[in-house]
Formats: sequence, structure tokens, C-alpha cells
Amino acid sequence: MTMPFHELVHVVQWSRLGVERFLLAYGFGLIRFGYYHGPLEEMAYALERDFERGAVPQELVGVIEGRTDAVWNQAAPVVLAGRNQRLSLSRFCAREPRKAEMTMAPRQPH
Ligand SMILES: [Zn+2]
Repeated sequence: MTMPFHELVHVVQWSRLGVERFLLAYGFGLIRFGYYHGPLEEMAYALERDFERGAVPQELVGVIEGRTDAVWNQAAPVVLAGRNQRLSLSRFCAREPRKAEMTMAPRQPH
């Protein structure tokens, strides 16, 4: 029964952040810390261990939401900066379509 508990932690994280922010925060953790040490996974594994010991924190949903907010606050400056760079690139492509096309076109063989 521990696997469903672990997944339920992710359900609360997901509903707290919404689809886009959950995926951004999850991907940030995966890339920066690896699977087991991504903060959303660490939280799920830590609470799973608490559950196995019969020591789940009171106000569990509120605890998960609070920790999830902290994870997002850590990830947001990095992932949102990355997104803004992509937005600038698409603005550049709209303003300078010819240059963008030349930049992005594959090299022709000589
Ligand atoms: Zn997990």
C-alpha cells in the first residue's frame, strides 16, 4: 500500500501547482538533483517513510502544500528565466524572419 500513498503525495503537489508549474518544478528537480533527490520526489519518499512508520504529519495536505510552495519558490526563478529566453527567441523570429530562417536552417553540404 505504500506506492499509492507515494502517488497521492504527487496528486496533492500536482493540484497545488497546476499542470504547467508541476511539470516545470519536477523537470527542474530531475535535471538539477536526479530522480531520487528531486525535491518533489524527496518529499514523496520522506512522507512515504512516515506513512510506513505510522507517523504521518497532522494536517498532511497542508504540510504537502506548504513544502510544495517552497519547492516552487526555489525552482521558479530558474525555470521562468529559461521560459523568458525562449519567448525572446520567438519574438526575434517574428521581427527578423529572414535572419531567423538563415540561423535555424540546416547547413547545406558543399
Ligand atoms: Zn514519485
